[in-house]
Amino acid sequence: MSYLSCEFVENGMCFIYNAAVLCSYSMCMKFDAIRIIDDYKGELFDWDKVRNIKQEYRDRFAKNDIPPICQGCPSLQVKDWPGDMQLKYILINHWENCQLDCIYCHTHERKKELNKMKPWKILPVLKDALKNNMLSYEGNVNITGGEPTILKEFPDLMKFFLEKTNIFIMINTAAVDYSKWIRKAIELRRAAPTISLDAGTRETYKKIKNVDCFKKVVDNIKKYKKGLDPVRNSLIGMKYIFIPGYNDNLEEVKAWLKLVDDLGMTNLQLELEHHWYEKNKYLPENVKEYIDLVVQYAHEHKCNLSYREILTTCGYTEVIRYIDNGR
Ligand code: SF4
Ligand code: SF4
Repeated sequence: MSYLSCEFVENGMCFIYNAAVLCSYSMCMKFDAIRIIDDYKGELFDWDKVRNIKQEYRDRFAKNDIPPICQGCPSLQVKDWPGDMQLKYILINHWENCQLDCIYCHTHERKKELNKMKPWKILPVLKDALKNNMLSYEGNVNITGGEPTILKEFPDLMKFFLEKTNIFIMINTAAVDYSKWIRKAIELRRAAPTISLDAGTRETYKKIKNVDCFKKVVDNIKKYKKGLDPVRNSLIGMKYIFIPGYNDNLEEVKAWLKLVDDLGMTNLQLELEHHWYEKNKYLPENVKEYIDLVVQYAHEHKCNLSYREILTTCGYTEVIRYIDNGR
């Protein structure tokens, strides 16, 4: 039956530090989410219960009774949904530990306390989902956090997804540490790591991230991309989040583009810092100019360019695509 719903309601789950919730989009944009199980710390699920909760939401969506948090969400689409409720879209986001201290991060105010937290284990839950036919063979997982590479389970998680499924792995990494699993997954064309430098210079990077490791990160990006063919190279995302007052000046954007050029990166991603946008609700004129500059660069250098959540809200939806990497 065809009705307005979304991939997460139908086939998704997102794990945060104290709950299993329905989707990630509401996490990013509204800082709230529909909870499937509250006070959750990695206990094995009663999958029938999970299916019943998901079914309740599916029934609501089928009757066009869209929960307020989902209203207007760009993920909504009219489709004939499969109805199997297997987990196909997963967000793993249940830890907050990270080596950086980005000024825009939700962890910024409680950095020390959050870095001391000991994350619960997600892998037994995924293995149990597989055993109970609740994990789809195909799909997408987004491993975000916190910093994935410092999660103890990270190598085992990567091994699990690569060996037991054909799920594509998206990873947000600061690249302060190098992971051979990320490199291996890129080689297999099974992962797309995104690195948000947000700066073209060491000074600005340090101002934004509060840690002086610009060079280390750039060296790790070089290691990730070394010897890759253009298709695999284009899986590594270079992101720039415009943070008014910090990196929204021509020199910085030019320095970032120079670095992108020197490194030979071809997957560019732009975003506007979400706290600033929530407060101000407009896109500054100078940022529009810098976006145009990046667009021009992308065309001249035959790069892919995409926009992230806030910029799509501001109307930047047209992706530039020169390299077909199957994503
Ligand atoms: S409609 Fe949007 S906010 Fe609601 S569950 Fe789906 S992705 Fe999340
Ligand atoms: S790299 Fe990510 S998780 Fe780490 S502090 Fe920055 S925004 Fe937060």
